[in-house]
Amino acid sequence: MRTWKWMFTAALLVTVSAAAQQPAESQPLSAAANGPLPTDSQPLSVGTVPQIAGATPSPNSAQTAEAPAAQPQASQSQAQSQAQPATAPAPTPSALPQPTTMDQVVDRFIEREHGLMKALSNRTPVVETYLQNLSADPQLGPVPSDDHYFLGRMDMGESVDRKDYLKEQDKGMQTRLMGGFNKLFKVQYQPMGFSWMVYADRTDFDRSHYEFHYIRREFLGDVRCLVFDVTPKKGSGKGRFLGRVWVEDQEYNIVRLNGTYAPAPRNSYFFHMDSWRLNLIPGYWVPAYIYSEEGDFSAGVKNKTAFKAQTRIWGYDLKKGDKDDELTQIRVDSVKDETPTQQDASPLQAERQWQQQAEDNVIERLTRAGLLAPEGDVDHILQTVVNNLEVTNNIDLPRPVRTRVLLTAPLETFSVGNTIVISRGLIDVLPDEASLAAVLSHELAHIVLGHNLGSKYAFNDRMLFSDDSTYANLGFKHIPEEEIAADKKAVDLLANSPYAQKLDNVGLFLKALQTRAPQLNALLTTHLGNPLAEGGTVNRLPALATKGPALDNNKLDQVAALPLGGRVKINPWDDKAEMVKTAPVAITSARDKMPFEVTPFYPRLARWGASTTPSAPPATAATNAPSGTK
Ligand SMILES: [Zn+2]
Repeated sequence: MRTWKWMFTAALLVTVSAAAQQPAESQPLSAAANGPLPTDSQPLSVGTVPQIAGATPSPNSAQTAEAPAAQPQASQSQAQSQAQPATAPAPTPSALPQPTTMDQVVDRFIEREHGLMKALSNRTPVVETYLQNLSADPQLGPVPSDDHYFLGRMDMGESVDRKDYLKEQDKGMQTRLMGGFNKLFKVQYQPMGFSWMVYADRTDFDRSHYEFHYIRREFLGDVRCLVFDVTPKKGSGKGRFLGRVWVEDQEYNIVRLNGTYAPAPRNSYFFHMDSWRLNLIPGYWVPAYIYSEEGDFSAGVKNKTAFKAQTRIWGYDLKKGDKDDELTQIRVDSVKDETPTQQDASPLQAERQWQQQAEDNVIERLTRAGLLAPEGDVDHILQTVVNNLEVTNNIDLPRPVRTRVLLTAPLETFSVGNTIVISRGLIDVLPDEASLAAVLSHELAHIVLGHNLGSKYAFNDRMLFSDDSTYANLGFKHIPEEEIAADKKAVDLLANSPYAQKLDNVGLFLKALQTRAPQLNALLTTHLGNPLAEGGTVNRLPALATKGPALDNNKLDQVAALPLGGRVKINPWDDKAEMVKTAPVAITSARDKMPFEVTPFYPRLARWGASTTPSAPPATAATNAPSGTK
């Protein structure tokens, strides 16, 4: 007999008040525990440090610091080497001797940077930038005043280019970026936009254009790094990198860049950026996250330009989407014939098989376009919540409901056949399991009510389109009557479910969404399903919108919605989604809540192989203490 259980709560929502904030240990540590350092602020050419790697015991990674780079990590475990992606670039043989001077370290990371550009030159990852313009609120500090969304594929070859997924790209934003926020400034906006900072300098990252100054050692997550300031030499040209790089101390790859470009052309300026890389394949750290922020809210500032933006890169392992390639990849055999032998399909069975074929086609196509995560751990949580709704409502469908994670930020859900799809951004901002159940119940209601969409996609010719035209070729929007019926049915399903006593939290979430909806049009613009809000007004689950207490920013224990990025993280190489593990951080003021907002990135860096081990399930103590808000 099927039963229900708390799932989201046990798995992750214990950190409800903390999700997007980073645990203290992921902050960069100062190099206090490290040994003597070369004189600060002196050019490297004069400072030397014998035995950089492993010379001084480090607080928590003495072992890795001792490991010579020539010994591949994979040798520690067969399982790890099997985990190596089949299409990853071959790791460079690191038989080179360990550098013994900082000069040699600089030479090495310059060489590794060029090696990375070469290794990624045939990749076309997905790039997503979500930007919030900010205005000052006396109580909440800088809050979003409007927002912009960009999604495309980036060609990492010689000519860096972006192909955009969204048909109506935000032309206004581009014009403004190029034409100037006001008369004083215009912003340098290159074809790569916010993703320029995947590399410090694509063409001239070398000693003849830059000075490198060793600063100190520092841990980023589990990885010990050498920190260098990088400044362009006089007369080396406009738009050169100016800032700091963190270089890991085994193979000397750059793992983080922070700074801007200089000098700026007249009447314009460059954004500031913080760019992070992850060690997702042996030997290489691939660009994954870029945070950008501008704005000064102190009294008397004249330049009112203020925004914050997150850029995420994923889908490095996607196939290049040329037409021939796509034709050979179309799967026509994706549906198994499960009817017992010697039986013909009844008309109803045929109809269901047809729908399943459409469903499989769509899921496979979206995955191939880099928009859907492969089936994984997050789906296990989502499916358990759906199961809770099903068993308590005695729903018995001919095929089990499946779930998948849409990799993008805009808040949306849709269903195709028996598969419910929910976006990463929406999972991020939901405060608790009941709210997750609420958004899933709307899609489950469509399935239960037989609002099948998308059967036309059972024809395989309809899957033949280029990746960047996905949104133009697929769509799963219901007519208004079906939306109203699904909302009504969803409320019935929730009333019978284990979440019935927690619907106040859903009401709070919908209220929080309503307070920000007029400013967050881009975040609420869906690309495949029906929107949660239209024209600045929330329209999903209206019967629950009045539930719960009034929204009160001053109540620090009332967390109605979370910032983006706090729950789901995507592996930029293989697109797998997993839950973020964060420790609770106390909210100390209303400004800490940041509902639906963009925050800086602080990924916990780990070396390849070290982070792929599945983590233990969370402490069971949490199961008995479902999180909630008041
Ligand atoms: Zn709907």
